[in-house]
Amino acid sequence: LTERVPVKRQQDEMTELGMMFNELMDDLEKAFHQQQQFVEDASHELKTPLSVIHGHLSLIKRWGKDNPEVLERSIYLSLNETNRLIQLVSELLTLSRVEGSSSRIISKENIHIKSTIEDIIENFQTVNQEFQLMSNLNISHKFTLPMMKRHLVQMVIIILDNAIKYSKDRKIVEINVKESGKKLIIEVKDYGIGIPKEELAFVLNRFYRVDKARSRKQGGNGLGLSIAKRLLDMYQGTIDIDSVYGEWTKVTISIPIE
Ligand code: ADP
Repeated sequence: LTERVPVKRQQDEMTELGMMFNELMDDLEKAFHQQQQFVEDASHELKTPLSVIHGHLSLIKRWGKDNPEVLERSIYLSLNETNRLIQLVSELLTLSRVEGSSSRIISKENIHIKSTIEDIIENFQTVNQEFQLMSNLNISHKFTLPMMKRHLVQMVIIILDNAIKYSKDRKIVEINVKESGKKLIIEVKDYGIGIPKEELAFVLNRFYRVDKARSRKQGGNGLGLSIAKRLLDMYQGTIDIDSVYGEWTKVTISIPIE
């Protein structure tokens, strides 16, 4: 991948071809390094729960027979870590699938935005009774968008899930859906822990977590937002995050209406 064609400063076809080849090689090299980085990061993330499980199995081996408390606690904690591993592997698979597809090959269906979002909110409200999910869905029932339903559902779930995961005592989540210009806008605002300004630029990166300990406790792997970002890329959509640390966070998704 390090080889390049020597090109002279001339305006002929061969020079142009050489330049094109070199650019292609640059892109390939970049993609290769990104892939390598991904494997490294993923391995690192997989190693943590595996080490914890290993530690508990060693404890069980040493003390398990004589000490039922150690046995019970280690099994409990190992099971927690196994759940984390299952979740992590499933998110890694999703990310890899999403990154592998392009907007050209996905089959789109015309989905009813309002009812789809209403259903997600209803499900969230059912399992998070202590929260007040306030929605303002300012679009007609007939409004449809050509995209895959599961993609929209996945994005909205990731963002609502974060709004709930990173909440504080004010358990209110506001959901606004509207049409603006030639775009569908979905805003989710929470009054939780917020994100420091200097970290806002990084939260869309794979495996990035502002507070590793808190995210880990909540079952977070730092992959949710990067999955949402990749899904939006497929539809030329964007994701924007604004926050005041310690006060609120607002995530805005924007999807062009074809
Ligand atoms: P995770 O699975 O860790 O939640 P995400 O990619 O979804 O991963 O989010 C990355 C990080 O961004 C989180 O670990 C958290 O620190 C921060 N974050 C995301 N959403 C919010 C939010 N609504 N409020 C506060 N912090 C958030």
